[in-house]
Amino acid sequence: MTSPQTPLMQQYREIKGRHQNAILFFRMGEFYEMFYDDAETASRVLGLTLTARNNGGAAEVPLAGVPVKAAADYIRRLVQQGFRVAICEQVEDPKVAKGVVRREVIETVTPGAAFSDDLLDGGRNNFIVAICAGAGRETAKRDAADRAAASDYVGIAAADVSTGELRLITAIASELDPLMARLSPREILLPASAQLPLPASRSDALITEREAWEFDEPLAREDLARQYGVLSLEGLGLTANDGLMVGAAGALLRYLRELQPSGLPQLARPLVERPGGVMPLDEMTRRNLELVESLRGGGVDGTLLAVLDRTGTPMGARLLRQWVLAPLTDRAQIDARLHAVGVLAADVASREAMRDAIDDVRDVERLAAKAAAGRSTPRELRALGDSLCALPAVANALHRIAHGGRLAEILSAWDDAAELASSLCATLVDRPPIAIGDEPAIALGIDADLDSLRGLRDGGRDAIARIQADERERTGITSLKVGFNKVFGYYIEVTNPNLHLVPLDYQRRQTITSGERFVTTALKEYEEKVLTAAERIEARERELFESLRIAAGKEIARLQRIGRAIAELDVLATLAEVAAREGYVRPTIVDDFALEIVAGRHPVVERMMPRDKFIPNDLTLSSDARMIILTGPNMAGKSTVLRQIGLIALMAQIGSFVPASAARVGVVDRIFTRVGASDNLVRGQSTFMVEMSETSAILHTATSRSLVLLDEIGRGTATYDGVSIAWAVTEHLHEHVGCKTVFATHYHELTQLSEELGALRNYNVAVREAGDQILFLHRLQPGGADRSYGIEVGRLAGLPGAVIERAREILRVLEGEHLAGAHDAATGLAGVRSARAAERGASAADQLGLFAAPHPLVERLASLDVNVITPIDALTILARLVDEAKRSG
Ligand code: ADP
Ligand code: MG
Repeated sequence: MTSPQTPLMQQYREIKGRHQNAILFFRMGEFYEMFYDDAETASRVLGLTLTARNNGGAAEVPLAGVPVKAAADYIRRLVQQGFRVAICEQVEDPKVAKGVVRREVIETVTPGAAFSDDLLDGGRNNFIVAICAGAGRETAKRDAADRAAASDYVGIAAADVSTGELRLITAIASELDPLMARLSPREILLPASAQLPLPASRSDALITEREAWEFDEPLAREDLARQYGVLSLEGLGLTANDGLMVGAAGALLRYLRELQPSGLPQLARPLVERPGGVMPLDEMTRRNLELVESLRGGGVDGTLLAVLDRTGTPMGARLLRQWVLAPLTDRAQIDARLHAVGVLAADVASREAMRDAIDDVRDVERLAAKAAAGRSTPRELRALGDSLCALPAVANALHRIAHGGRLAEILSAWDDAAELASSLCATLVDRPPIAIGDEPAIALGIDADLDSLRGLRDGGRDAIARIQADERERTGITSLKVGFNKVFGYYIEVTNPNLHLVPLDYQRRQTITSGERFVTTALKEYEEKVLTAAERIEARERELFESLRIAAGKEIARLQRIGRAIAELDVLATLAEVAAREGYVRPTIVDDFALEIVAGRHPVVERMMPRDKFIPNDLTLSSDARMIILTGPNMAGKSTVLRQIGLIALMAQIGSFVPASAARVGVVDRIFTRVGASDNLVRGQSTFMVEMSETSAILHTATSRSLVLLDEIGRGTATYDGVSIAWAVTEHLHEHVGCKTVFATHYHELTQLSEELGALRNYNVAVREAGDQILFLHRLQPGGADRSYGIEVGRLAGLPGAVIERAREILRVLEGEHLAGAHDAATGLAGVRSARAAERGASAADQLGLFAAPHPLVERLASLDVNVITPIDALTILARLVDEAKRSG
């Protein structure tokens, strides 16, 4: 039957041809069969036995199958591994089919379009995104400047079918990385042959290529308008300039429809996001500030999110994660959040009442999406009902405090969906089963038919119970029992010692070790009544449940709005709770340049030590003191203070209170954090090259409104190179970018830059020397560190005494030379800059190779001007230089 030539295999090949990039689950009776490559993949991934069928000498067809009953689990495993699974069902009754039974793919399950709870994480969205790049696209209506920049933009449509959320985003192409990190999609749709370099932050997303025309804007406009029943996309907040994201949305809708031929999952009206609305956070900044993933292990422990996340609902958890990864850049919006958090932080009773009420709300977004997709179980529908029934309590709490601002806005748009809530809670029993069947799902008193059927069934059951009593009396067998099993139905069981008492009208059905089982005509008559009633009860319950589910599904748009309101309240109340519990204050948000932090703390590090052990620090950056060189020995606390500045600015801009006793935050457009290569152990393949290309990216993208935090940049190479690069980067940021900068470095030589750069200030993290020992005070103070204290740190780390002594000796020699010749590394550098290379005699320092003057070859190269020499001359000069280099090397 599975020979390649049979009509069945022809049908298979024809269907498979339309689902080439999916594993095809081909329904055959009680099994889903897979053939050819699909069979091989499935047997490898799922550990199934691979068989081959060979009918009548035809070629062998590899075959693997899974029972229909267990299919859900196999599908989940395949999808988790990043495969798509197309489910092909028999769509006519095999008994009445003429020839081969008709089959159709009824659904394709992919990582990006998943409903099953096993495939979802409550605290994260499960996004599928389509990306449409600007390259080569022209929109007539764009003005010249826009057109020039068109190729630098990407349009993104991101849908979470498990919550019904749809986001349309336009972003600058270079911000694709922060965006992918924020959305962390499970699947990405790209136009075929799109030359779009996907950033590493796409992580393990499945890439799905689609035909380029599917991203066409005019087609997509029509499709979107039809989907949302609007005449023009203006109604959705989209304009003529939004072609890229509209195109992406078109491709996405088309794909989702293809996955679910029976109907596109319900999507709420799109949330539109344009460039500049939120702060893009690049990968290194996300990682170094440990926002949602810790450097060690990559888990959420030890991250800012872990400190902030006290949300009561999965919707709140998802939203908070989105907020942390997308700080706002608009002062009014930030203030709106801070105001709401402030109100909730100040009123403990209302906050607690609200958090308690929110605790009773379950994942309304996902429960509603399931209802709309026809996938809810009775238990889930009841959970939706219970969640809705909890809403009035939330509204009551909100009512007490919503006197203005965002809270009042949420309250004025409040919707309890009261009718749906009461119909769900009244119709379903308190604790319904997972499926309609043995246990009742529909409550008593809802449906007269159902109740009378139940009466019939229960009457039958009572009658059967009575039969046991009657038969005991009639036969005198006191151990006689009436029982039930699925195969034989109701039976009378008599134990072996009593078999001689069994009356003639008993019909034997089954022998068991302890006795025999019989039936009687009366018993079978009642059984018939009970069982047919049970069947009809199930059918009726199913009908009632279906119409309830449909009613809930119809309200999807409302339920999504409710879910979103709860998510926002949950996050605002959570931020207030954390603020109160951790002693955070409301930052003052301003539009000027300043960043002033009084007694700031690191929100994560302070929690790792006993209360009040963390030493708070002040820090001020202003336009005429916008750059800080932060020196101090290893372990002093430089990296900690650096990160806490970044975290405080970021927390303020997501609308959170901050760990400080006061803070004034001038909105920043971006935060950059870079860590020198040798400090940056976690990246694994981290090299000096990576460090430099990251630094270069900052120099190119930072604006005067950015906050740049550099930690030991220039450390990944030799000291002399390192100091030089650090020096030049600092100059550039100061002179050409003008951003707020904090640069932590153990190169105390850099402190000399303050003589040259007007807006640069030196700070150091204080240590106290006590004899040979040093004590870390973790306190920031003005002025540069005078030296590196490396030897003291080495001593603390347990270097042998003899090595420490020898190091001190060498240091004394070097310092002696330095004083005698007035040439330390930094003044040496100043010398290079002013082109007066030191003409110094051989010193101990030179012998150690630390402070060598520039090589003559370098000077020769520097004197060349490639613009005025011919190619031939260039070659000749090059040959000569190579010769000299060989001789001198
Ligand atoms: P550095 O970058 O100067 O080498 P770190 O910032 O890595 O130093 O800090 C080293 C350790 O010192 C941290 O792990 C932390 O335990 C402690 N530390 C840092 N700052 C403080 C502080 N302000 N108060 C208390 N302990 C701190
Ligand atoms: Mg450090």
